[in-house]
Amino acid sequence: MCGIVGYTGNKAAVPVLVNGLKRLEYRGYDSAGLAIDTPTGILVEKAKGKVSELTKLLAEHQEDSPIHKSQAGIAHTRWATHGPPTTENAHPHASSRIALVHNGIIENYKSLKGKLEAQGYNFLSQTDTEVLALLVDSHYDGDLFQALSSALKEVEGTFGVACMAKDEPGVLIVARRGSPIVLGVGENETIVASDASAIIKHTRQAIYLDDNDIAKIKGGDIDIRSLDAGVVSREASEIDWSPDAAEKGGYEHYMLKEIFEQPDAIKNTIRGRMDAERGTSMLGGLGLTPREIVDIQRLVIVGCGTSLNAGMVGEFATEDFAGLAAEVEQAAEFRYRNPIINSKDLVLAISQSGETADTLAAVREATEKGALVAGLVNVVGSTIARETGRGVYLHAGPEISVASTKAFTCQVATLLMVALKFARSRRMSVEQGRRFVQEIESLPGLVKQVLAKDKQIAEVAARYVQYERMFFIGRGYLYPVAMEGALKLKEISYIHAEAYHAAELKHGPIALLEDTMPVVALALEGPGKEKTIGNIKECSARNARVLGIITEGDEEAKSEVDDYIEIPACRLHAAVIPATVALQLFSYHVARLRGCPIDQPRNLAKSVTVE
Ligand code: GLU
Repeated sequence: MCGIVGYTGNKAAVPVLVNGLKRLEYRGYDSAGLAIDTPTGILVEKAKGKVSELTKLLAEHQEDSPIHKSQAGIAHTRWATHGPPTTENAHPHASSRIALVHNGIIENYKSLKGKLEAQGYNFLSQTDTEVLALLVDSHYDGDLFQALSSALKEVEGTFGVACMAKDEPGVLIVARRGSPIVLGVGENETIVASDASAIIKHTRQAIYLDDNDIAKIKGGDIDIRSLDAGVVSREASEIDWSPDAAEKGGYEHYMLKEIFEQPDAIKNTIRGRMDAERGTSMLGGLGLTPREIVDIQRLVIVGCGTSLNAGMVGEFATEDFAGLAAEVEQAAEFRYRNPIINSKDLVLAISQSGETADTLAAVREATEKGALVAGLVNVVGSTIARETGRGVYLHAGPEISVASTKAFTCQVATLLMVALKFARSRRMSVEQGRRFVQEIESLPGLVKQVLAKDKQIAEVAARYVQYERMFFIGRGYLYPVAMEGALKLKEISYIHAEAYHAAELKHGPIALLEDTMPVVALALEGPGKEKTIGNIKECSARNARVLGIITEGDEEAKSEVDDYIEIPACRLHAAVIPATVALQLFSYHVARLRGCPIDQPRNLAKSVTVE
């Protein structure tokens, strides 16, 4: 999920690799390392922390030492998914014969590890990647290309991978499935990277590998094959982005890049966790047996900001589908108001960074009171992950933009999986469970359909740029969407946006409505829609312009609003995700048109580690 760089050619490899890693630094990472081909074997250096920690280690080697003279190597910045960010867990992972770097997740690493241990292999790290490295070693008989192909046939999951062998100097073997690999083609040299930003300084000629491609590279010679067919031909294309844009994958802002990453991010969140046959989810990290799950009498969700909004969806889905009492509470409030908690409660703490101060304090308070406490965090090895010792990682990849997007949708997808788990251990039938599984699996596709409307959403946004205040209204599952929509808009556009439950409008806020105060109304097909349509009429009667987030093809809803964005039809607990994506794009375009610094909104920090 973080970064790979490789080099083979006629220049010293270390500067190219280190430079490439620095170009990838923006992605966020927790450790870095490299493996260099030298006449006496492969030399590995790795360090916890920034790339500068790695360069300090490299500086300890004399300038004319083999490591600095070598013309081939691989390097990595890690964003931990399996095992905390330590030096041992940093990549490359190596045997006495090969070294390997990897982005992604090896889902079946446990069973592969068992097999390798039985063959006598010892493991030094907790990563899934070391399993892949030693699996390659187990297949190696002098041909690394063959060894990697055979190993990858046994692997389930995602990978962008680069490896090298001591006995094949100058040769890099790379492959991808679900995690990008691009080859920068130079004169008698090739730079491998997970992201074009790492190669752009050297060449603009790029070959993008397709899923299941595997390539053997030596200097400028590139031989690409498919893991399931034979030789394939991949044309080089010219990168026409500036280096700055390249970091953002060609997008104008990280926020937009991350909005567009959501189909893949959600896929990564749910990958390996759905059991279609049994109609349930597999959340081994919770460390709860079905018996223990049945014993839980209440789910208490704590979080702040975006995580709190996601938590509300979790509360509704758990009560709706599992019939289990659930509540969601602002983490700071939870910690200070002396909550009533007992050993039959599961407290679920949600935090993208896993470091949010108030949420961490809530975790400690709940632990003190004897509750079961689990974390729902994105950053592996973060404090909340460590202190809870159980939970579900989002696997959404690093989120750079201060305004959270993919973390929210992955949190909601995870909470739906949690609700499904509880539901199946209670009243939900296998048939209903299978339908729920299908709904969760359809989420990446639903998000893609909304992303395809980006241009149209930008046109709608242009009609709302001049307003200084805005209301968002919704009911049921769409109330947290209204909350998240308003939060996004105020964070990045500085428009004063407030979300209200649609039924609350008449209890006060409606006094503010006039033609300078538009309303974004979440009026998707489902329970409560007719009531929200009634509220829309009330807003229009007071001259407020109304933007409806409506179900595709809903002519009735269209006729009631001034502007609309259509969301593909689905049940409301699933619709939360595509509807939120539509509002992310809406906020993004409003802020862009207002000339706001989208990736660094004033006064905000990415992770709030103070009270
Ligand atoms: N799953 C691997 C790990 O945790 C790779 C992480 C990455 O993509 O950086 O080490």
